[in-house]
Amino acid sequence: MRRTLIWLVLGAWASALMSLSAFAQAASEVTLTRLDGGTPPAPTDVNTRYSDTYAYDGVKLQFVFSCYLIKHGNDYMMWDTGQSMNAGAVAPKIGLVDLLAQMKVTPEQVKYVGISHYHSDHIGQANSLPQATLLIGKGDWDVLTNPKPPTGVNPQLVSNWISGGGKVEAISQDKDVFGDGTVIMLYTPGHTPGHHSVLVKLAQTGPVILSGDFVHFRENYETDGVPAFNVDRGQTLASIDRIQEDRRESEGRRHHSTRRA
Ligand SMILES: [Zn+2]
Repeated sequence: MRRTLIWLVLGAWASALMSLSAFAQAASEVTLTRLDGGTPPAPTDVNTRYSDTYAYDGVKLQFVFSCYLIKHGNDYMMWDTGQSMNAGAVAPKIGLVDLLAQMKVTPEQVKYVGISHYHSDHIGQANSLPQATLLIGKGDWDVLTNPKPPTGVNPQLVSNWISGGGKVEAISQDKDVFGDGTVIMLYTPGHTPGHHSVLVKLAQTGPVILSGDFVHFRENYETDGVPAFNVDRGQTLASIDRIQEDRRESEGRRHHSTRRA
């Protein structure tokens, strides 16, 4: 019986990886590669900003900025695009297109840019992949295309699509990106109105969830921690509950099938 693994990449603006080991094996070959999306600051005291109940007294965490390249057969999808190259101290040392070039992938080969949510550390280099179809939660797209976006939201970072320069799919619920169940955007609102995570089914590792900021770190996930700056507390808790329930369900199915075997 395979152990259930839980991966958490600690990162405020980063991504948690949670491996859910009971999903079906991938039909097409699917690979997942993390790319640096910026230069993180020093470890951060998370008690005030990342818990509206001040649950993490004395906890300091090292955050990261991440982008993920998902290869599905001959197609590529970029999940989140990190900080802008103009983001000052937190800007990436190497841009996304150059990181792709190191892997011998051209921007033209990237079919989809999937975005977890509209914060600048997740959409910073989206415009460097202008030919890709943008996949983004409808709630977040509505904010980015609002003539008067809220403070801290920078629509310029996705100007290629706002100006009609590329195709956009604004997604209301979940989306099976390649139609075979191997890469599924999961609607996990709360941090932002249209926040999505993505489930990637890897043949060897098993299913992995790239969490965006639906939770920021393990303690948020395990103790229902809600950052003070999330847009909706109730939705955040419901999203945590959904992913925890998915995991319990998948482990239950795994145990059941193991007994039958
Ligand atoms: Zn965020």
